[in-house]
Amino acid sequence: MSNLHNLFDTLHKLNAGSGREGLFYSLPQLEKAGIGPLSKLPVSIRLVLESVLRNCDGKRVTEQNVRALANWKSKGPRTEEIPFVVARIVLQDFTGVPLLVDLAAMRSAVARLGKNPKLIEPLVPVDLVVDHSVQVDFSGSADSMRRNLDMEFQRNRERYQFLKWGMQAFETFKVVPPGIGIVHQVNLEYLAKGVLSSPATVNGSTSTVYYPDTLVGTDSHTTMINGLGIVGWGVGGIEAEAGLLGQPVYFLTPDVVGVHLQGSLQEGVTATDLALTVTQMLRKAKVVGKFVEFYGSGAAALPVVDRATIANMAPEYGATMGFFPIDEESVAYLRATGRSEEHCRLYEAYYRAQGMFGIPKKGELSYSADLELDLSSVVPSVAGPKRPQDRIELPNLKREFVASFTKSVAENGFGKSSDDLSKTFQVALQNGYVPGGGSQEPISTGQSLARNTNPLTELEMANNRPTPDVITQTTVAVDGPIRHGSVLIAAITSCTNTSNPSVMLAAGLLARKAIERGLQVNPLVKTSLAPGSRVVTDYLEKSGLQPYLDKLGFSVVGYGCTTCIGNSGPLATPIDEAISKHDLVAASVLSGNRNFEARVHQSIKANFLMSPPLVVAFALAGRIDIDMVHEPIGKGKDGRDVYLKDIWPSLREIRDLLQTTLHPEVFRQLYRDFAQLNPKWNEIPSSTGNVYQWDTASTYIQEPPFFLNFSLRPGEISEIKGARALGIFGDSVTTDHISPAGSIKKSAPAGRYLLEHGVPFEEFNSYGSRRGNDRVMTRGTFANVRIKNLMVPGTEGGVTRCFASQDETASEAISIFDAASAYQKEGTPLVVVAGQEYGTGSSRDWAAKGTALLGVRAVIAQSFERIHRSNLVGMGVLPLQFKDGVNAQSLKLEGTETYAVRGLGAGLKPQQDLTLEITRANGRTESIPVACRIDTPIEIDYYQHGGILPYVLRQLLAAVPKPGSPA
Ligand code: SF4
Repeated sequence: MSNLHNLFDTLHKLNAGSGREGLFYSLPQLEKAGIGPLSKLPVSIRLVLESVLRNCDGKRVTEQNVRALANWKSKGPRTEEIPFVVARIVLQDFTGVPLLVDLAAMRSAVARLGKNPKLIEPLVPVDLVVDHSVQVDFSGSADSMRRNLDMEFQRNRERYQFLKWGMQAFETFKVVPPGIGIVHQVNLEYLAKGVLSSPATVNGSTSTVYYPDTLVGTDSHTTMINGLGIVGWGVGGIEAEAGLLGQPVYFLTPDVVGVHLQGSLQEGVTATDLALTVTQMLRKAKVVGKFVEFYGSGAAALPVVDRATIANMAPEYGATMGFFPIDEESVAYLRATGRSEEHCRLYEAYYRAQGMFGIPKKGELSYSADLELDLSSVVPSVAGPKRPQDRIELPNLKREFVASFTKSVAENGFGKSSDDLSKTFQVALQNGYVPGGGSQEPISTGQSLARNTNPLTELEMANNRPTPDVITQTTVAVDGPIRHGSVLIAAITSCTNTSNPSVMLAAGLLARKAIERGLQVNPLVKTSLAPGSRVVTDYLEKSGLQPYLDKLGFSVVGYGCTTCIGNSGPLATPIDEAISKHDLVAASVLSGNRNFEARVHQSIKANFLMSPPLVVAFALAGRIDIDMVHEPIGKGKDGRDVYLKDIWPSLREIRDLLQTTLHPEVFRQLYRDFAQLNPKWNEIPSSTGNVYQWDTASTYIQEPPFFLNFSLRPGEISEIKGARALGIFGDSVTTDHISPAGSIKKSAPAGRYLLEHGVPFEEFNSYGSRRGNDRVMTRGTFANVRIKNLMVPGTEGGVTRCFASQDETASEAISIFDAASAYQKEGTPLVVVAGQEYGTGSSRDWAAKGTALLGVRAVIAQSFERIHRSNLVGMGVLPLQFKDGVNAQSLKLEGTETYAVRGLGAGLKPQQDLTLEITRANGRTESIPVACRIDTPIEIDYYQHGGILPYVLRQLLAAVPKPGSPA
């Protein structure tokens, strides 16, 4: 129980409603005390300030930190770092399992030092939602979900056992089991409280202190919670570990960009269209690393679910947050999702007392930059084919696709000729493959999967739902032409949209209208629906729309990320073969937020983000090169052309359904008893004890080497010299390029390792699911099949040239892992050279961990993505930035050079210039200045300690003078 301070007389009473009283740190009082002009500050800054004030202890957080943030200047220099102590932490399983592995490894290290392993314990509540592991192995049939869940448990049993160990070993570590929902949607609908409370003492008496719900999550889309007025963003697993061990999350005082929203969305325009428009607009406005705060009458009129859709895509527009302040809509959302009346009253009372209730109007607050968006100007849009910010207005999609199809690869196109577009290739699936991705399960010759082709009866249409016996599978021949531009994956996926009932209901309504007109989806299209929570199924069932989605192949495949994270499962082998044989530019359509190359599926090159109803529409059309305004989607049962406008639901239809489908009791019931919703979780056995008993035979969970040979004192910062380049990369290298999450190839170093350890190919699972095993992950670093190392021009995949002295194959391409191993053997340090936006994409600590374990000492790039840069420092890897206009091309780097970094050592300062010395193969040396991107003083400490984890462990051990008793 913490002892509360009363700095600046800010500890005030709060009437929490329902006869309850408590305390809170009053920001209006802080302003009255003359500390700063708080009521003009952006709301997001004030919420962070509350944490800084409340946690001020003179050590981790000082009075100077409070004063500095209270005097935030909209256009001031950004040199101060803010120590932000968050109230809670959310994790998903891909990032959460390795985090738990690190915690377990820290406990092992503490036990080896003869101290009490319980010293390592989360100090704030941690919730891990298992959502990233479900894969679409089966789709398009009623039992898809059950079969996918079976596969998921079969593949992930060891990981789930380990999570169960964590649940019993750590007191504040909770797990939402698989099959319940997606982390950010579960956070929005259930975990988030808006206001939290803790018992505390003041002058010896006990009280309750109330404070804002704030968090960090180990997933970049943690920002979805900003839609509910909660401050939070994605951090790397290593920062989250420090956060949960009581360290503040440090970040540079941000600029806050105000986006004034006015007007309202037009008929036919969805929240997804708005999110894509905002993404494009804010990318152009260069909001990378900044807070974005939405305000104005347009923002006030948006329901929380629309705000959450926009907030979710903050990583795509590059902002740290996409924040909406708190107002009546926020309270209404908490009420509608089953939070108690008592809590809703407390929530409103708290923010009113803080002077932060209501969406600000224009001119009320000062922002670093002001942007305007009239919501009525938003039009139906998609984004693609390779980046989420490349928005295309729907009527222009055909033209734009054809243009990128013929553009050269250098111009980010596909480098094809326009004649290729008219070629078609026949694929036949009668030889026993289920097109819905079930290629792992052959079915007998002559049999093939089909959508249900039975028309609904008039009675069923009148009742809005078919009777169960009509929904039966009948078979149709599954063969047909595919071509460039064929849509082969159509996925209603991703918490971005599945948390928003308006777009999910729109998809169902469009499916119903399509069926009524007699349209069908070609079974060559792999269709799937992965709701972000069971609530979605409840309202799609109650509204009678799910059977229509089923009939088009959009049956529920699971409650998890699926296609959004690249777990789209295999395509039928003949389709995959045809794509590969003819080098087809096939398309996916998905309601997700990311479409980088090889993210959705390794064989699909053109990936388009769009709203759920458009996903259904493009599945029906079967091709991406269609002008949805002037060309028909297909022919109806009456032989007449059917256009998108004929089946597009009206806003009124959607609103009518919304009112009848969302009930607080449903949320309460579906979030009450997880075990009952997924009994398979109960069947997983769990080991016990405070220290994990590592199984050296496991290919999923291994003790990482981070704390082996751990000493209580850090070493000195040493210079880097004689380093070789492990890779030279271009722009926009994503964390998925560096540390892929998807499937593992047999021939890749990780695949060879698994085969050597007796894991058959069918049980490889994905890289993401094997992040608990550093041996697999180090081998998987830079192993994305699409990464292009400019040291080996014309190749793709994780290959390089190796100049290790004992290696005689420098002219041949070898795997990056093999090269790194050879360099490590002879003690040669390594660097990586890259272009703009290095490490863009999802936050992924293995992108930094793997880099460090390969022996890379520095990454020299033109610019870095925010989280990845801090993760590199967090793993003891030095991020260096070229000066403007300098890059690998201007320096004519080939990979034959050696590198030295001069100026490293004691006295290193954040953001100081260092010297990069490049020695060419002919012995000529040149020196250039580079900026050291260790940005803050605390990062210097992390770097000196060899990373954040050794730093935190040494701090914790230093705080325990006497040896405790090992468990
Ligand atoms: S659905 Fe997509 S955005 Fe949401 S948590 Fe999963 S991977 Fe992240």
